Amino acid sequence: MSTELNPFAIAQKQLDEAAKILKLDEATHELLRWPMREFHVRIPVRMDDGRVKVFEGFRVQYNDARGPTKGGIRFHPQETIDTVRALAAWMTWKTAVMDLPLGGAKGGVVCNPKEMSKGELERLSRGYIRALAHYIGPEVDVPAPDVYTDAQIMAWMMDEYSKIVGHNAPGVITGKPLPLGGSAGRVDATARGGIYCLREAAKVLGINLQGATAAIQGYGNAGTFAHKLGVELLGLKVVAVSDSKGGIYNPKGLDYEKVMAHKKETDAVINFPGADNITNEELLELDVDILIPAALENQIGEWNADRIKAKIVAELANGPTTPEADEILFQKGVYVIPDFLCNAGGVTVSYFEQVQNFYLYYWDEEEVHKRLDAKMTSAFHAVHETARKYNVHNRLGAYLVAVSRVVEAMKLRGWV
Ligand code: GLU
Repeated sequence: MSTELNPFAIAQKQLDEAAKILKLDEATHELLRWPMREFHVRIPVRMDDGRVKVFEGFRVQYNDARGPTKGGIRFHPQETIDTVRALAAWMTWKTAVMDLPLGGAKGGVVCNPKEMSKGELERLSRGYIRALAHYIGPEVDVPAPDVYTDAQIMAWMMDEYSKIVGHNAPGVITGKPLPLGGSAGRVDATARGGIYCLREAAKVLGINLQGATAAIQGYGNAGTFAHKLGVELLGLKVVAVSDSKGGIYNPKGLDYEKVMAHKKETDAVINFPGADNITNEELLELDVDILIPAALENQIGEWNADRIKAKIVAELANGPTTPEADEILFQKGVYVIPDFLCNAGGVTVSYFEQVQNFYLYYWDEEEVHKRLDAKMTSAFHAVHETARKYNVHNRLGAYLVAVSRVVEAMKLRGWV
């Protein structure tokens, strides 16, 4: 991986820019540039053919000045320690920008879940928790789902942890299934939070979203629910979507239920009746009002930023835009809703899940939506106003808000 596209180098570079504006002293800056603590584990798993395969796993606890660390676990063949470090840093800024009483962390296992049986996945999930059980916990570090992990995996992990500590411990992990202490509204929370941000962005920009065209890159949890809720709540016309195998485009709009049914049947969105097949690269450059990157890192860089035509880029993925592209988009007047604000709905409802687990009392969906909306709306405006005040792009605005809060906590604790 080139240094320019190493996500952790990017995360450090973004922080450096904020540190300059905030005039951070050297020790404070240095402490924030690196993870506070990280774990590298080997996980032996008995595969279905009887052999034992050893998987590599990570958990990075980036900063806990504001509270227990929080962040998802990714199962991905290309996982690296630097990706996990970057994602853990972004979780720190994400919980801070949302003003949640939490720090940031991330986990990852190098594996390809698409090639594993359910039993193998269960043994890997339990093995990961056995390796880390003494270093996580409801008041220490609380994992959650991320790329290629889901509620079932959270259930196995919670069960394994509960067996180790000797009592039911739902608060150790979030994104659980509802019968095991999950929260109403968690499953679509990432997309829903992004949709609330989009609504607020349209207000400040004076754009009418009814019938506005949108393209969505990525058709996992965030991308699919962005399609559904973008249509339902904002009246968007979603004209293009894609997954790892490629994309589809129909200027008349794509029906969510039908695309989902097609994806379920063929395991891909391409070859959808009535739509043209396009590449992921083409999707990003379509002439649409709204672009929603909802896949992986480094999708918009200096190589294509100039050709982005959308008025608003709502980042549901983590790290889809490089610092060079941020500058280009800012100069072009594209309004970017940065990842750790735009996709913070997931961790915000995870936080609500933690609260409900501690309380042993559960809210209904309406209550969760109302509270999520209030949180997203106030974080959005804090970022928008800060970016305007300093005349910087929104990502830097978000950094200024988040980093100031983490620094304040570190100073109050007497660390720096
Ligand atoms: N993995 C999600 C994220 O990147 C959610 C994290 C959480 O719920 O703790 O924000």
